[in-house]
Amino acid sequence: MAGSAIRIKKGDAVKVLSGKEKGKTANVSRVLPASRSVVLEGLFSVKKFIRPKKAGEKGQIVQVPRAIQVSKVMLVCKHCGRPARVGYRVDGATKSRICKKCGATI
Ligand SMILES: [Zn+2]
Repeated sequence: MAGSAIRIKKGDAVKVLSGKEKGKTANVSRVLPASRSVVLEGLFSVKKFIRPKKAGEKGQIVQVPRAIQVSKVMLVCKHCGRPARVGYRVDGATKSRICKKCGATI
């Protein structure tokens, strides 16, 4: 696993395989290659209390997205709509991502 490229890109739809949001589908809003994790839109966010900066101001509660390990999500193929393993097809100088279930370029 170490050293292998992350096969998920920003904007991909993924299915969560484990944790409290298991079974849900969301779009990837960020990929963090250094920690091999991804941030999903609307999922795994935690509430954070922001302290007031000045006296008299109110603190705020904001939702902060938390990254999860890329191994805990699976790409959902746009073509067949199923969670699928990703393969690569090399065609001369171009390398395209393919769905291993239906063979479509994704
Ligand atoms: Zn497919």
